Amino acid sequence: MQTLKLNNGVEMPILGFGTYRANGDECRNCVYTAIHTGYRLIDTAQVYGNEDAVGDGIALSGIDRKELFLVTKVHIRAYEHAYASVLDSLRKLKTDYLDLVLLHWPFGNCYAAWRDLEKLCGEGRIRTIGISNFNPDRMIDLIGFNRIVPAVNQVETHLFCQRTEQHKWMQKYGVQHMAYTPLGRKRAGEMFALDEVRALAEKHRKTPAQILLRFLIQQNIAVIPKSVHEERIRENIDIFDFELTAEEQDTLRALDQDAPMIGNPENPEKVETALTW
Ligand code: NDP
Repeated sequence: MQTLKLNNGVEMPILGFGTYRANGDECRNCVYTAIHTGYRLIDTAQVYGNEDAVGDGIALSGIDRKELFLVTKVHIRAYEHAYASVLDSLRKLKTDYLDLVLLHWPFGNCYAAWRDLEKLCGEGRIRTIGISNFNPDRMIDLIGFNRIVPAVNQVETHLFCQRTEQHKWMQKYGVQHMAYTPLGRKRAGEMFALDEVRALAEKHRKTPAQILLRFLIQQNIAVIPKSVHEERIRENIDIFDFELTAEEQDTLRALDQDAPMIGNPENPEKVETALTW
């Protein structure tokens, strides 16, 4: 597995496994399958309500904990007691440390939560801390007034929302870009059907999903596709044996619509949704 070196020297797999909307036995089984297929980064969140099931899948896999890179996110409703909430995540995930913990959204008392995460880092309970859904202004603000610079910003990124400008700000501040919803979730079918994507899939003897994931990792953007189906779990990790040319990447770049579906913290509706969690 290719890795990325984060700003604190920790190595993170460039591809991981997403678990949003996977719950109970289905979640446990797909985490187990993902680990046995070669995934080493698993992404969950307090708000997904599946940390227990993710922990069960990991335990069932029998993998050595040190081989895994485990990511969770602090619920915005837990920002005033982030320290205790992370201890709860550790218990549910059945581990004594987390590789990466993110602030899920830039709302509420992010500063209190960030300082709790810094403390947990100092105690060795978390190796790396980061943010999610932070636009550049909020990211720079957080960096300007705290000790630890976030190592990762996990933001919605896919063919129709490439985040080219935001990527530059992350690079400037040494924050690793991680793409959530890298297959565009409900718009995946639309992306897979595009002539440009189909032509590249045919040329490289790959699937449209593999072309879209490869496009992101070639820009050093980490990806965390989710699937509960074994054949797709296999398909999504099988992207390390081919390369898109500069021209092919330009073709895909031209398909950007700058259209986030989920991750726009400036959209009042999205703020409302996040706050009703
Ligand atoms: P994805 O872009 O990963 O798409 C997942 C959807 O695509 C599922 O419906 C899945 O179906 C389907 N799918 C997966 N692989 C394939 C394939 N090879 N061919 C066809 N269809 C496929 O969306 P997510 O929103 O799940 O994003 C990935 C992860 O990012 C999440 O699971 C979560 O961990 C994280 N995330 C973080 C957020 C944040 O705020 N920080 C917000 C949203 C997501 P099926 O499962 O039935 O196979």
